Amino acid sequence: MGTVWTVQVLAPADPAPRALFDTVQQALDLVVQQMSHWDEGSDLGRYNAAPAGSWLPLPEPFWTVLACALRVARLSGGAFDPAAGALVDAWGFASRNRHDQPGFVWPEPARLQRLLVSGPQAGWRGVRMDEATRRVWQPGGVRLDLAAVAKGFAVDLVSARLREAGWHHHLVEVGGELRGEGMKPDLQPWWVALEAPSDAGAPDPDAALLASLPVLALHGLAVATSGDHRRCLWHEGRRYAHTIDPRTGWPADHGLASVSVLHPECMVADAMSTAIMVMGLRQGLAFADDQGVAACLIQRDGVNLVAHLSAAMKAMCA
Ligand code: AMP
Ligand code: MG
Repeated sequence: MGTVWTVQVLAPADPAPRALFDTVQQALDLVVQQMSHWDEGSDLGRYNAAPAGSWLPLPEPFWTVLACALRVARLSGGAFDPAAGALVDAWGFASRNRHDQPGFVWPEPARLQRLLVSGPQAGWRGVRMDEATRRVWQPGGVRLDLAAVAKGFAVDLVSARLREAGWHHHLVEVGGELRGEGMKPDLQPWWVALEAPSDAGAPDPDAALLASLPVLALHGLAVATSGDHRRCLWHEGRRYAHTIDPRTGWPADHGLASVSVLHPECMVADAMSTAIMVMGLRQGLAFADDQGVAACLIQRDGVNLVAHLSAAMKAMCA
């Protein structure tokens, strides 16, 4: 997944038993084997390389993640698009032609135009899932990229496997997406503070922003964050987010620094936070309120950052 993970567990022994590490690692390996776009041998890699007009059987976890991704694509009107892999590739955020490696080729507008996802059968609309046979349709040339949702799923899977194995109290984190279950030894829930995005050279976040950021008690709850400050591309003094708007072919650029979403399922929180990041403040807040999504959007306003909470987030904080 191109990232790191941490797991905190209330375990009976110190050092924690080997089985605990194995439980975590096996869950993460499964997600990578099925959904990694770094590994051409993954099930996702095989889908992307499949000839036009083929039906491919999908293992259950991949099925679950793709179904969630397509649902969020539909709800968000394509702002979230798991079939935007070719565009993500073009911007250097996948495994090939990386923006941070020598030889990166800046995408030409004409190329982006060709990759633009439009028309009734293009992008996510062309990816059909057959419930009866658990197979998925490759219309030809579709490159799936589940990076905006699979990390969240991995968090859910690790958490579920830990619970099944009897480790009921844990905080799981993969690449900044988190899920808390049970409690800490002091009977407190797993408290997680939302971070103020920081830019090199920018002033420290002001007290007003820090005071407005919620602190979350993750008790059977997950939080996922999308942002433009951790992973982005700098070109001629400008920042380009790794969140691409599949409707324009360009990185989202509405001044949103980050979007965090709270949800019982980290997979859903992950997909929703990316969708809102693509939409921008106004449309994103309206979408969150429409869908009852608990979201915290941090908007750049000159050199300042301002936090905006959706109605569901305000209600949860209250
Ligand atoms: P996240 O950090 O969860 O917002 O995921 C960002 C990653 O998702 C990017 O690095 C891309 O691999 C992929 N991605 C970029 N734009 C989109 C989009 N509009 N819809 C779905 N996935 C995207
Ligand atoms: Mg995401």
